[in-house]
Amino acid sequence: MNATTNDPTSPFFSEIARLRQELERANESIDEKLEQIEEAGMDVISLTRQVGDGHARIAALEDDIDRLSRKDDRRTRRLQKMRCGKCRTKIDARSVDADERYVSCAKN
Ligand SMILES: [Zn+2]
Repeated sequence: MNATTNDPTSPFFSEIARLRQELERANESIDEKLEQIEEAGMDVISLTRQVGDGHARIAALEDDIDRLSRKDDRRTRRLQKMRCGKCRTKIDARSVDADERYVSCAKN
């Protein structure tokens, strides 16, 4: 700093003091804004992570659904092609109660 800035008799003394205060306020304001940006950044990081977790969960659930629906298709095809244990008549067992252990055609 120039020597005149600290000299109370300088014609610029009060102007320099005012500018210093303004500079201090500006610095504080910048610090405050940087903090806000940092907080917002944390929120964005947190949200981005949550979105990523959500996508991973959705992908896992879609895989589960695909696997289960393939399994269900195989089961349905198997039930459709069942036959009576006595006369070998085809029985569509899709509507058979899950608790039943034996099925037979209408003739038996
Ligand atoms: Zn039968």
